[in-house]
Parts: sequence; structure tokens; C-alpha cells
Amino acid sequence: MSYQYDTVIYNVRIASMQDSEVPYGELLSHAIALKDGKIAALIPSDDSLGEIVKQAKSVIDATTLIPQNEGGTLKHPWLLPGFIDCHTHLVYGGNRAEEFEMRLQGASYVDIAQRGGGIKGTVEKTRCADERTLLNTAIKRAKRLCEEGVTTIEVKSGYGLDLDTEVRMLRVAKSLEQHLPVSIKTTYLGAHALPNEFAEDADGYIDFVCEKALPYIASQNLADAVDVFCETIGFSTSQTERVFSCAQEHGLPLKAHVEQLSDSKGAVLAAKYGALSVDHIEYLADSDIPHLAQSGTVAVLLPGAFYYLSEVQKPPIDALRAHNVPMALATDFNPGSSPLASILTAMNMGCVLFQLTPEEALRGATAHAASALGLHDRGVIEAGKLADLTLWDIETPAELAYCINGHRPAAVFKEGKQVQGR
Ligand SMILES: [Zn+2]
Repeated sequence: MSYQYDTVIYNVRIASMQDSEVPYGELLSHAIALKDGKIAALIPSDDSLGEIVKQAKSVIDATTLIPQNEGGTLKHPWLLPGFIDCHTHLVYGGNRAEEFEMRLQGASYVDIAQRGGGIKGTVEKTRCADERTLLNTAIKRAKRLCEEGVTTIEVKSGYGLDLDTEVRMLRVAKSLEQHLPVSIKTTYLGAHALPNEFAEDADGYIDFVCEKALPYIASQNLADAVDVFCETIGFSTSQTERVFSCAQEHGLPLKAHVEQLSDSKGAVLAAKYGALSVDHIEYLADSDIPHLAQSGTVAVLLPGAFYYLSEVQKPPIDALRAHNVPMALATDFNPGSSPLASILTAMNMGCVLFQLTPEEALRGATAHAASALGLHDRGVIEAGKLADLTLWDIETPAELAYCINGHRPAAVFKEGKQVQGR
């Protein structure tokens, strides 16, 4: 017998995260039908649920997935889109716990750099790490995100800087999909820092990125996007522009780390090139925001780095809101400035440190995070989108951003298959 649906999940309250008059795009008392890894239909429970259930190969009463609710007597659990962590650097060698310890014992940044710490230390350790070692540590880190209901992760290269290591990082990132129930989007971030072999020759390094590395990475389909660290301590706007135009020649979408430590006008440049996102943006000038609104560029907020570096300059949230620039939120998971393996904590930090509303924080880790990656097939609960779903034993979606380490999903579905929960 052939069924119209693979799975029907009923007794759920849905936070669809669609643009809607109602908070969280909520749909009370609905069932959801899944087929071939996608959402086939959203069905109000007062409709002929009995009929629909007969057309499904498997049927799940969501209340039975909640622990200590054997009889299914609790209120209906909430169903949300799977989270999307749209900015991470989670493939790297070693970690910087020792450096953290040294700093808190009073060592200066110069002391740490002299003892081989900082980003150069991570580059060294990443270059030395073989594929297996990089993969095993990356699996551990990505798993922490998945346990919280993350179903898509963006991973950047940028700790190899030479071609071999950058390629290895991107391959390792992509192969996480074979080990965890997650989609991976890779980003080539060659222009992250200046490697020792190009000391004092940033333009020479940009030549290497544009003439050798990027064309090879594009030809091997190793990256879904290209990113640049445009900053006084990173690369200038003219160097950034060279990488942007080279990436566009190779048909790769753009992202950029901009205005994290200074107003370098990277966001305006990124908007001019139609970048998918500008990330960090603490020092973004209000007057530059209309450029983002016009180009449809997403503002990616990274409160983990803001917190970890004890920054004080906040991104211009009110002005972004006023111009309807979509705001995404991510962990920036990296060893130096944001060793944060928790999208839920990033949401809490977005609310506490940047005064996002819990709804904005949730939208930032779902619908707007999808836009920051140029993905139109996920991030909201809607017929036709991927069936990447999380189920929560909560009274209101605001609880997810409110509580610190208070929640894990009762169940996670990746492309229609249940991958977590009982
Ligand atoms: Zn970053």
C-alpha cells in the first residue's frame, strides 16, 4: 500500500517562525505531515485528522515524546524549525585553554604571542593536525550544537591559510554530515589572517588567495561561500574588494566579518557586492544601514565574541530594526574569541547583551540564519520546506532564550527522520 505521507506528528503547538501577525508565527493545535524529507502539510486539528492519520505510514503523538508524560496528559509540546548556526569556525587544531589560563594569571597578549599563542598558534596546530584528528575534534564540537537542536551548521576555513590545510579543513567540515544528522555549509575564509610566510606582504597573500587558492577551492566545489575578515587587524577594504570580485567571478556568494573592532566601512562594501551577510557589526554606523536594507544583506550578530572579549560597543540594534534589516544570531564557535558550543546560550546572550526580544533571537537562529546562508528551503515551518524540526517541553518559545542551559529538545527530526528523543 502506498501512503500519502511518511509521518504525521500531531498534538503539537507550532512556532512556524514565518512572518506573521501572531508572535512566533504560532499555529495552535495543528498536526504536521511529512513526506520525502519535507513538510507536506500543516493540518488544523479540528479538520479530519482521523482521515489524514490513515494516509500516513507512521503516526506520532507528540505528547508521548515528552519524558514523564507516559499517558500523554501534558499540554501539547512546541514544534520549532531546526536551528541554524550560520557562523562557526569549529574545525581547528588544539585549543586555547592554556592561553586563557595564562591571561587570567596576568600574562599580556605579547607574552602569549611570544609563547606561540593567539591565532598563529591555532594556525600552527591546525597545519600539524591530520584529517582524522581534525575530524574527531570537530565531531565533538558539532555534536554539542546538534544536541540543542541545530540541524544546519556553517563552518569556515581560515586556520590553515596555506592551500593544503584550507582544503583539509573544508573537507573535514563537509564530512561532518556523514557522522551527525546535520547539513553543513562551508565557507572559504582564506583572508582571515596573514600567515607567517607572507609577513609584511598582505597584498602578496591576497594575490595567492585570488590567483591560486580560491580558484582551486571553487573548482573542487569545496566551498558554498567566501568570507573576508575586513578590519584594521585583518584586511583592508581594497584587499577585501579583490577577494569579493574574485569570488563573484567564480560564482560564489559572499560573507564578511566587518565592523567588529572599528568602523572600517566593510559593510557598505559588502552591500555593494550583494553579500549574503555582514557579521559582528558592533561598530556599524547608523548611516550605513540603508545600504544593507537595499541589498538584502543579513546582519549576523555574534554576542559570544562580544561577551568573551568583554567588548562594550554594541551593534546598532534599534537602527537595524528601524530599517527592517534581518538579524541573524550565531555562536561564532572558535578557539580564540568565542569558544561557545551553544546556540541557546547565544540566543540568551543576544537578549541580555544586545536587547533582542526572545522572538528576534529565535528568528535569528532559524529564518534569518537561513537567509544569511542563502538557503530558502529551511528556517521556517511551512509546506515545501525541509522537515528539520525540534520538539520542546516548554510553555512558551520565549523560554528557550530566557533560560541558560535549561532545555534540550525532546525530539529532533532531520529531513523527516527522528534523530533524537525517544
Ligand atoms: Zn567569525
